Amino acid sequence: MAAANGGRDPGAEDGRRDLVVVGSANADLVVTVDRRPAAGETVLGSDLAVHPGGKGANQAVAAARLGARTALLARVGDDAHGRLLLDSQRAAGVDTGGVLVGGAPTGVALITVDPSGDNSIVVAPGANARLAPADVRAARGLLATARVVSVQLEIPLETVAEVARTVPPGTRLVVNASPPVPLPPAVAAACAVLVVNEHEARVLLEGDPAAGASGPEERARALLARGPQAVVVTLGAAGALVADRRGVVRVPSPAVTPVDTTGAGDAFTGALCLRLAAGDDLAAAVRFAVRVGAVSVTRRGAQGSYPTAAQLDGPTP
Ligand code: ATP
Repeated sequence: MAAANGGRDPGAEDGRRDLVVVGSANADLVVTVDRRPAAGETVLGSDLAVHPGGKGANQAVAAARLGARTALLARVGDDAHGRLLLDSQRAAGVDTGGVLVGGAPTGVALITVDPSGDNSIVVAPGANARLAPADVRAARGLLATARVVSVQLEIPLETVAEVARTVPPGTRLVVNASPPVPLPPAVAAACAVLVVNEHEARVLLEGDPAAGASGPEERARALLARGPQAVVVTLGAAGALVADRRGVVRVPSPAVTPVDTTGAGDAFTGALCLRLAAGDDLAAAVRFAVRVGAVSVTRRGAQGSYPTAAQLDGPTP
């Protein structure tokens, strides 16, 4: 299986990277419809719009646009969608030397959006489902360059578990448990920071008496008891909260008028990883990440909404 840039590893000669993201890359195929179809029904929609997406690809772009030296370990198909994804990563400055090409078509998300903004999404994981533990072992050298390694759950769980085993001591592992799948205890224990939104926190804690009928603080504590060193729960317009052994702290978001919240969680997580790599403590990294998340919701799209460092320091939040 060829690496996308022929196997070169452009960041390696310069020493360490801030972030290596191990995760998914999807083409988002979006059609706007007057009404989402019921079973057996056909409706006509707008022209098709194709956007680069997938949580891994989004988080890599978010971090790189803010200036992080970032590499992506992912798998795409040898097809037009794969090339779209590689182009968008490179345009953001992401090192794509670890992106594997072939084995299955690029993953796609088929998205219909109605006028109220509600959507229905079907994901065909394609090449994401073929990102295998052996690919992680083969990328051991790439992972060893990272201050922070991040992973999400749109790739096979055994691949995530291999990442947790492979991350070298001294490198911080950030796990964004999205979509929410029960985490193997070894992954939870290897986690420097577990990042979830409120829905994901609830799903991960289903059946856990420690969570009870509780709020996000209690849920964050219950997740912390599963082994990660820290837990971050994102709270949409309310910002985020940070839980570690010292306690739980709320970090409010700047007030903005949201236009499109697609990919806000990925903007947040990419930004968080950047500041952790820079040496911020977790609360400071989350304060930065909520600013980035807030800017992203004031613009349309996912990757296209992510600010550069210069834009973040501009007149927006
Ligand atoms: P998505 O699925 O839309 O990508 P998410 O559900 O994973 O997002 P959220 O908690 O909704 O995650 O949002 C992530 C972060 O983005 C929040 O912590 C916050 O910083 C920012 N954010 C999201 N919505 C808003 C908003 N309406 N106003 C300001 N900031 C927001």
